[in-house]
Amino acid sequence: MDDGTSFAKVAETLEQVSSTTSKILKVKHLAELLRILRPEEVGPVVRMVLGRPLRGEKKDMLQIGYSTLLEVILDISGSEQKELHRLYLEHGDLGEVCFHLFERKKEVPLFEKSLTVKSVTNSFENISKVSGKGSKGTKERYLKSLFLNAKPIEAKYLVKMLTGEMRTGMVEGLVEEAVSNAFGIDREEARRLHTILGDVAILAEKAARGELKSVRLCQFTPCSFMLAETAKDAHHVVEHFGKEVYAEFKYDGIRAQIHKLNNEVRIYSRRLEDVTEFFPEVRERAEKSVHNFIIDGEIVPFRDSKPLSFQWLQKRLRRLSGLAEIMKDVPVEYFAFDILLFNDKETYMLPLKERVSILERAIEGTGLKLAKREKVREEGEIERLFELSKSLGYEGLVLKDPDTPYSLGKRGADWLKLKKELDTIDAVIVAAEYGHGKRAGLLSDYTFAVRSKNGFVVVGKAYSGLTDREIEEMTERLNQITTEDLGFIKKVKPEIVLEIAFDSVQKSNRHDSGFALRFPRIKRIRYDKTAEQADTIDKVRQIYYLQGQRDK
Ligand code: AMP
Repeated sequence: MDDGTSFAKVAETLEQVSSTTSKILKVKHLAELLRILRPEEVGPVVRMVLGRPLRGEKKDMLQIGYSTLLEVILDISGSEQKELHRLYLEHGDLGEVCFHLFERKKEVPLFEKSLTVKSVTNSFENISKVSGKGSKGTKERYLKSLFLNAKPIEAKYLVKMLTGEMRTGMVEGLVEEAVSNAFGIDREEARRLHTILGDVAILAEKAARGELKSVRLCQFTPCSFMLAETAKDAHHVVEHFGKEVYAEFKYDGIRAQIHKLNNEVRIYSRRLEDVTEFFPEVRERAEKSVHNFIIDGEIVPFRDSKPLSFQWLQKRLRRLSGLAEIMKDVPVEYFAFDILLFNDKETYMLPLKERVSILERAIEGTGLKLAKREKVREEGEIERLFELSKSLGYEGLVLKDPDTPYSLGKRGADWLKLKKELDTIDAVIVAAEYGHGKRAGLLSDYTFAVRSKNGFVVVGKAYSGLTDREIEEMTERLNQITTEDLGFIKKVKPEIVLEIAFDSVQKSNRHDSGFALRFPRIKRIRYDKTAEQADTIDKVRQIYYLQGQRDK
């Protein structure tokens, strides 16, 4: 029986893709693969190549712990933990490690069956469906049968897919190019269609099936959001635009597209996931409109005429049981700022100034709110509005060129965001992990902590911000102060102080401090500070309450 394309073909292509730094060659290799696939294999393969083998809302559902994966790998390859650690230090990449271990694989299945695109996709689907008690064991069994039949090169890429750490340099833009090459679609057209479909795997599959002609923006297919670039300050904004622009409040919640067609309303998050069921009141408000549309805006937790901090929304997103209670506790508002489709007309190509008046009509009488918007030109005006936004508990401003279209999926200079800067934290490194790729063998990921009555307590982990040279130097210093070597991770004497910038402070169960810095970035190494001079948990707590003073 013909089971379609072998998985080995995919793995070999990925090996070719990662062995060249040339983007042109990467695209060529992938295009060659796409051309020989069956149409139904194209979508799954594109997802595999991008390291997120499951479609849409199931993106995160594989949820295989590293420990489970390592157990399976060791078991099937018949290797020792020691050997795995040694190879990991050498390569800094679990996929690569797996390749070497599988070359010496001892266990051979009774009836060896070659993996195919179809069988691998099915295994991923099966794993994602496992839940509840005993799920670890069931997942392990699925994984085992997958790896039992895997050749070394296949095992390498299975691991990369399962951990989402592909590191082949095959980014979405290049996949889009490969799709355009493979199926003879104009490059610009492929880009446009990609943004409408919101998912390059769907684009590829439709291209393979010859179904692109019928693609247009339509309800219930979420499309990519337009994003903003960061502006340094009001001066930068004025210099950049050099004309009158719109300044809108920057709302801190979750970005959401509302799609309405007759009686049906769906709400999609920035990751294009359907979140309708979590926000019934937003759905009900949208249902009141007499129009059909796709609008863009932000869902904000909002109580007593004031915004609550973003974190309150997590309560709403977590579970559906007791939703009525949580809805009372965390009411929300929807602030609309754009419209992409109005009745039968695609509006996203229109200039913003036309879109906003259409938007007003679309949501009139619904209870959905319009984002606060003012025309500004001068630095002083921008600063005044920025202060107003902050004093009302919002995050700052988004400044928009009124003459430009909505660029689906693009972080463009037509929108600039101006955000308040939070304080930085001086924290101490208490543990370090090895990096990947060119940082293999270097200690480049740091767990950092602040002082408390009970010693140092962890508030986060950071890996960005240092130069290669600094990382080398840091590795040397950290090796000297290692107190415990756990293979992947080294515990170190709390000595080195880092200045950490971050977006906000969140409550967290993961760290012993009870807090975590969101999006931490290393600003610099504080050579001038000792661990005793690092910041305290009180400061972290204070920032948490300051940023959340609107919570009360
Ligand atoms: P950031 O998350 O800091 O990169 O800022 C970009 C995000 O700000 C967007 O993705 C939106 O979710 C959010 N946002 C809040 N208010 C607006 C607005 N008026 N226009 C556009 N984006 C906004």
